[in-house]
Amino acid sequence: MDEYDALEAFKALGLSATTLKALERKGFTEPTDIQRECIPLLLGRNVDVVGQAQTGTGKTAAFALPILEKLDVEDRSTQALVLAPTRELAMQVADEISSLKGERKISVEAIYGGSSYETQFKKLKKGIQIVVGTPGRIQDHLERGTLDLTHLKFAVLDEADEMLDMGFVEDIEKILSQTNEDKRMLFFSATMPDPILALAVKFMKEYEIVRIKKGEVDTSLTEQYFVALRESDKMEVLTRIIDSCSQFYAIVFCKTKVQCEEIGRKLGEKGYPAEALHGDLSQKQREIILQKMRDHKIGILVATDVAARGIDISELTHVINYTIPGDPEVYTHRIGRTGRAGRTGVAITFVTPSEKRKFAFIKRINKSEIEPYRVPTVADLIQAKKDRMADAVASQMDKLDDAYDDIASTLLSSYESDLLVKALLQLKWPHELERERYNDIRAIEAKEERRGRRERYERPWHDDETEDKDGITRLFFARGRNSHLTKRKLADLIIDACNVRDGDLQDIQVMEDFSFINVPSHLAGRIISTFKDYGEDGKPLVTRARAEQDGRKKKRNDAGRRQVKASFSRRRERHAQWEEGVRFYGRDSYDDYIPSRSASKGRKKEHGKYNTKKRK
Ligand code: ADP
Ligand code: MG
Repeated sequence: MDEYDALEAFKALGLSATTLKALERKGFTEPTDIQRECIPLLLGRNVDVVGQAQTGTGKTAAFALPILEKLDVEDRSTQALVLAPTRELAMQVADEISSLKGERKISVEAIYGGSSYETQFKKLKKGIQIVVGTPGRIQDHLERGTLDLTHLKFAVLDEADEMLDMGFVEDIEKILSQTNEDKRMLFFSATMPDPILALAVKFMKEYEIVRIKKGEVDTSLTEQYFVALRESDKMEVLTRIIDSCSQFYAIVFCKTKVQCEEIGRKLGEKGYPAEALHGDLSQKQREIILQKMRDHKIGILVATDVAARGIDISELTHVINYTIPGDPEVYTHRIGRTGRAGRTGVAITFVTPSEKRKFAFIKRINKSEIEPYRVPTVADLIQAKKDRMADAVASQMDKLDDAYDDIASTLLSSYESDLLVKALLQLKWPHELERERYNDIRAIEAKEERRGRRERYERPWHDDETEDKDGITRLFFARGRNSHLTKRKLADLIIDACNVRDGDLQDIQVMEDFSFINVPSHLAGRIISTFKDYGEDGKPLVTRARAEQDGRKKKRNDAGRRQVKASFSRRRERHAQWEEGVRFYGRDSYDDYIPSRSASKGRKKEHGKYNTKKRK
């Protein structure tokens, strides 16, 4: 084993030669703290583990390496389940595990919403030993009987805090209740809020907590501000912030990949040097964008927390929280990226009425004050631009070139000097002083705030006219075929952005200019708020369908189509079938439609065996 001397520290943790070889290929030389603690613990005693360490500290390998060592290569059943909050993370974790398995013939797959059931089903049938999945899709497979979790050696909740944050507790509990008792449970998380410990108490037998204290993030050089605004005004406020600064070299943090792309694109269209950085980019694309940023070829990265992790770009002048993080630690992390190496930085957090609670929480935990930010007025911006023009002209005075002497005196002899200067400025900055670049920003009134709060914390869909008694809400989507939408694309978009399940989306209709979709009412709020800022002209992209829109639908659409006839009672009937397990996808294609009525009945009985005391 001399050939792995370089990996001495890993070897000392008890890892096998096969693993060391994989680590060498991967270029890991030293274990991280969480790996140093967790690997021997998991290889050794038969305990459950709750592991906490900062993002980017290699938690995946901390659980994946021991799992890989412990799996039975010969046994094709699913021996490890890793639950991850998003499709991006699931893919990332599956890739990391695959690259760590080395020469072992162990199958690892990511199972997530938005990709074909058929393909996943085929793979599952062949036997996937390590399944990495999002809770929604895993539950779908459990319901269809296409996944058996009763031979697990390990069940892992990765990014557990994020999963709880996204409201997956019930899903997780349901999934765990269908697994065998004698597995080991592992929770990994960047933070350790109480609900995770509560979950540990509920699902773990004997367990150990491994906490790695993080290096403190220094935010003392960061000036912190917030802007209370409406979702629909965020873009305007962002562009005003950028325009008011003589230097803007920043990360704009968003919540979702879709949002990142949208904002990156919008900024680009407005002429700002911005790029979106998210988990769907290949490693190569990601590197290219980061290099452009380091070379100052672009000055704005629009990123999700996940995509931004591990990237080290110094000298950022600003961090913009386009969407507020749910977790104060994430906030500190984000803003700690500016205000480094003796330079001050500015962090500005956008807060919509519905995010007031989150913001209050951050303010309470945060060590320094977060001051209100005064959004520059159009007059401010024009003045700032004029000042910058004057500065630019002044600094050019040091670099004057004699080659321009003749033409300068010719022009001066032909024109009044003030007209001449004006003409030159206009030539150089033809659109800079246009007021039309800016839109009005509506002030947030008290009433608006109340409404926002209600939307977030009550159940606003109760008095909604498009909700029928079975708890289905019809949503209106302000895009249609002319935006190149298809049913499939629309469904994938929603599944991706909102982490809902395939089966949640029913009766999708894509019309010329807009679309409709039925969702369980308890998800309507989540979907509407996720797409809140994607609309145009201040109009939201997704709303609850109004009766008049439905009327229009009936008139315009082909009366022969099944979905069109979806009257109230028909929808109710369909919902009843849906409950039974027969799903109507209302999709363009039915290839991944597996009739599961009989399967589900059979399975229910079977499940009875495993649903022992863990069901509450
Ligand atoms: P976390 O889940 O804690 O946020 P990840 O497991 O995603 O972190 O790891 C972050 C990155 O660090 C990955 O690219 C991973 O390959 C890399 N990494 C993990 N452990 C090591 C190590 N011991 N040495 C070098 N790189 C590592
Ligand atoms: Mg992780």
